[in-house]
Amino acid sequence: MTDRRTELAANLARVEERIAAACAAAGRKREEVTLIVVTKTYPAEDVRILAELGVRHVAENRDQDAAPKAAACSELPLSWHFVGQLQTNKVRSVVGYADVVQSVDRARLVGALSKEAVRAGRELGCLIQVALDAERSAGGKGGPGERGGAGAEEVGELGALVARAPGLRLDGLMTVAPLTGPYAGRERAAFERLMDLSTDLRRAHPAANMVSAGMSADLEQAVAAGATHVRVGTAVLGVRSGLR
Ligand SMILES: *Cc1c(COP(=O)(O)O)cnc(C)c1O
Repeated sequence: MTDRRTELAANLARVEERIAAACAAAGRKREEVTLIVVTKTYPAEDVRILAELGVRHVAENRDQDAAPKAAACSELPLSWHFVGQLQTNKVRSVVGYADVVQSVDRARLVGALSKEAVRAGRELGCLIQVALDAERSAGGKGGPGERGGAGAEEVGELGALVARAPGLRLDGLMTVAPLTGPYAGRERAAFERLMDLSTDLRRAHPAANMVSAGMSADLEQAVAAGATHVRVGTAVLGVRSGLR
């Protein structure tokens, strides 16, 4: 336990250094970027240690794991972000603990989230997840990518839908650097594309200014492109066993 604390503190310090250096290189203030630690596959005890070390935002991608973890950590001063593909039958559970759902990618999900947020008497933050591997203009198949996400051309419509949905608050956009398509291996270009989409979105919804991009391997590119939130798992908690 104590060893784990030392390890997490050292990892966090290294990530903090990376974010600070990336901000300095981009001429941005450190406060412009918020660290979200992705705690998926790691236990509630790690979340507790992270909270003691000053982490205030955590993210999970599977409701089955996240729900009991969030319940075990309910007294901690944490914001919970849901970042995984979300089935509508899990929405009621997720709305029970999530402060922000970053993976909103279809109208049906917006309807389900709104209904449950109203039922729970909560306001739920929502990010539209954009799949940049599915850009139609590049001759791709279009539609949602395998890892979830709406096509770039759907962002305006989905944003408008969230903005007028009771119980939901449109906070901005999220992406995962694509492994296929025109942006494969071009993280910086992908994140700049997300920034352009964010600029468009903010014309209609000025408060929707969150841009969630960048993970352990590419947080520098995300900060350079203008991300306001980076989602870091491996670099803080260690390499996960299995493929998720
Ligand atoms: C797992 C995950 C992350 C964190 O990835 P790392 O490479 O471990 O930093 C970020 N975003 C999403 C959506 C994830 O599923």
